[in-house]
Amino acid sequence: MAMTNQRPRVGVMGGTFDPIHNGHLVAASEVADAFSLDEVIFVPTGEPWHKNPVTSAEHRYLMTVVATAANPRFTVSRVDIDRPGTTYTIDTLTQIARERPDADLFFISGADAIAQILAWKDIDKLWGLATFIGVTRPGHNLVLPDVSEAKMSLLEVPALAISSTNVRDRVMSAKPVWYLVPDGVVQYIAKHKLYRGSDD
Ligand code: NAP
Repeated sequence: MAMTNQRPRVGVMGGTFDPIHNGHLVAASEVADAFSLDEVIFVPTGEPWHKNPVTSAEHRYLMTVVATAANPRFTVSRVDIDRPGTTYTIDTLTQIARERPDADLFFISGADAIAQILAWKDIDKLWGLATFIGVTRPGHNLVLPDVSEAKMSLLEVPALAISSTNVRDRVMSAKPVWYLVPDGVVQYIAKHKLYRGSDD
């Protein structure tokens, strides 16, 4: 927790969240604890630049809202889903920095994604906008780019044994996803018949 005379430390949790699961929530909580963050803003991506279409942004956004609703330090931003075109983190962080000029930003995402950061758009400007934290599953060894520790860190989070791919596969096979995702997300998936192989 930041002292009152310090700038707020704000996490920006970027991900596709298709769907959000308890591993993401534990990861945000663990990073908040380890890096003394005052709050975490979850930012579901808009149109992913590097992969096939995913579940509609509105469904992914609403599941993220449902999942985070009970935590007063967690909020959800629409910046990526409301911005037309491909999602680039430079645009995400520029927009959030404009909305929160008082804050120091910490961009949190999967370590696999963060490991590719040197290939991201406007990488030189990204370093000035945030500190980058990659969260990883135990035993998942990664070669990180050669970047100053002050600008990039890794944190191992055992709960990330849960993955969105596994949750989608289980729903598709009619297996339960209780306790892998928050209860409200189980109900949201069932209500909207997501991940059953038909059009989402
Ligand atoms: P991804 O390729 O779908 O995910 C890579 C791995 O990271 C998966 O194992 C994924 O597990 C995990 N992961 C993703 N987000 C996570 C999170 N917030 N916390 C914990 N694990 C997470 O990655 P993505 O979701 O498309 O992209 C992640 C973020 O990086 C987004 O904000 C995206 O906009 C940004 N990004 C930016 C650029 C760029 O600016 N050029 C390029 C790539 C990514 P799950 O599937 O279980 O989540």
